[in-house]
Amino acid sequence: MLDTDFFRRWMTAAAASVEREANDLTELDSAIGDADHGSNLQRGFSAVTEVLEKDAPATPGAVLTLAGRQLISTVGGASGPLYGTLLRRTGKALGDDDEVTQTQFAQAFAAGVAAVGQLGGAQAGDKTMLDALLPAAEALATSFEGAAEAARAGAVATVPMQARKGRASYLGERSIGHQDPGATSAALLVEALAATATATDGVDA
Ligand code: ADP
Ligand code: MG
Repeated sequence: MLDTDFFRRWMTAAAASVEREANDLTELDSAIGDADHGSNLQRGFSAVTEVLEKDAPATPGAVLTLAGRQLISTVGGASGPLYGTLLRRTGKALGDDDEVTQTQFAQAFAAGVAAVGQLGGAQAGDKTMLDALLPAAEALATSFEGAAEAARAGAVATVPMQARKGRASYLGERSIGHQDPGATSAALLVEALAATATATDGVDA
């Protein structure tokens, strides 16, 4: 079972990873965007860890809903509402159980990823965070580690794609040959999830 603390530790691990990789994310965004993806997420996830400490939400669903709301209100770029929607919708789908099964979580996460697609209108192959999130959601039904691997592979697979959504799409063919910053940060998020699972007794990573 996955408890409230599991989800809090996931968010803390994601914040640490974003902090560590912020420069690289911004560098990727400087090639095909406006060089703010790392700082956007740094600001967002540090606000997430702060509010989770302050408000101490009591259920897995409440942790993710609060985290998502915080991302929406603190991240200016396109990625804020998109990641905020991912976490909020996932949290909402978890309901108010004190603990959730891995299967319940995998289904909730898939609903969260679908909501990102609805909000941004992007599909697989458009060179966005969805190219990491969609394969991760599918693999999550089997394992956390598998989801991390699928997300990483999905991020790398954005390199030869031409962007069809977001700021990078303004570049047309010139967006080809660069890894998408949002797909890269999405892989970090799922890797943080797998690392949290590995570090948790009784959870099969
Ligand atoms: P901005 O583009 O406003 O500067 P960020 O730099 O924080 O915002 O985030 C850029 C990332 O957001 C992109 O690399 C891409 O993965 C993701 N993104 C942008 N538009 C969309 C969309 N419509 N659907 C899904 N993801 C998107
Ligand atoms: Mg940007």
